[in-house]
Amino acid sequence: MSRDYHKYISTRAFELQPSGIRKFFDLAASMEGVISLGVGEPDFITPWNIRDRSIEALSDGYTSYTANAGLLELREEISAYLTRRFHVSYQPENEVIVTVGASQALDLTFRTLLNPGDEVLIIEPAFVAYSSLVSMAGGIPIPIATYAENGFKVTPELIEAAVTKRTKAILLCSPNNPTGTCLNKEELTAIAKVVEEHDLIVVSDEIYAELTYDQEFTSFASLPKMFERTILINGFSKGFAMTGWRLGFIAAPKELTSVMLKIYQHTTMCAPHMLQLGAVEALRNGSEQVDKMQKSYWRRRNLLVQSLNRIGLDCHMPGGAFYVFPSIKKTGLTSEEFAENLLKEEKVAVVPGSAFGASGEGYVRCSYATSIEQLQEAVVRMERFLGRKII
Ligand code: PLP
Repeated sequence: MSRDYHKYISTRAFELQPSGIRKFFDLAASMEGVISLGVGEPDFITPWNIRDRSIEALSDGYTSYTANAGLLELREEISAYLTRRFHVSYQPENEVIVTVGASQALDLTFRTLLNPGDEVLIIEPAFVAYSSLVSMAGGIPIPIATYAENGFKVTPELIEAAVTKRTKAILLCSPNNPTGTCLNKEELTAIAKVVEEHDLIVVSDEIYAELTYDQEFTSFASLPKMFERTILINGFSKGFAMTGWRLGFIAAPKELTSVMLKIYQHTTMCAPHMLQLGAVEALRNGSEQVDKMQKSYWRRRNLLVQSLNRIGLDCHMPGGAFYVFPSIKKTGLTSEEFAENLLKEEKVAVVPGSAFGASGEGYVRCSYATSIEQLQEAVVRMERFLGRKII
């Protein structure tokens, strides 16, 4: 007789929604000849000098725990990098924590901030994990819908309309996953005013900062009076092509990091020692490779946006990350039907926009972290598909 496990599982865990992205990965993985525009990770392998450093560290026996916050040497490099690249200044001793990916940085952040019932504003379409992370920490995710007509940008007015007495934080992600939308300095400054007026904390997910194309990236904490209100989240996964290394970091005022560290001590202890040494190398000698990858994504973005618009899928020009988010409304299909039919009929995997929140319906996310040849072939297949779907 099988046991009824339901009664053992917490309601909070049971009610979590599985990622809408995984479902398509699993389906695509079971088929031959699929071109995947579904994945959210670089197609580059981590540059050799970074890999070499960690191989050497492993050979030399760097296999122990490190300080909970990470090697001081790495925190010093992170602090210098943030100042050099983004004009923000954090003390390596007590304002930086090395985490297991930006994912863990987000988890630590929400567990530190939220009491049951606290509300967190999430700009949608949004990274699939955000609302689950908030819910798991006992908070309530409050979506703010954005639309293509406005380049998927959130405005101070939209934020004002969503704030209540229970709002504690707002999560910003620029460049955004899945839309690629970037907010410029003026737009962020306007948001900062609302943040101050309502006494909010900003969780600024800057994981795609290195992949900003048409403007200079603005780190939220660099805006006047925003340092004290910002939890900066970044990492090595996207810009440095290090997704599998699982290395990210938090930079925030020490009153917040000291509490985060208590949770970290009891849950994770530290990020892997030998990989942290590779990350030191990434920050010291990685910028040339990062630039090369950035330029390559830029070329592919331009090609894909132009091609999708040509074949009839309206697509705004995203300012960053490695995603485009074209409208599929002309086909009359839901985004899930579009993605499923495209995969089955033409073997091209994209992610339905609905996976990223209600305002993502009518769109699909295509990642261009794949070769130009694959992108070109994907467009040929999509054009053929559209020929049958748009009457
Ligand atoms: N934040 C955003 C917006 C992402 O798109 C992702 C990964 O796709 C993450 C965070 C997680 O990054 P990491 O690999 O560092 O955990």
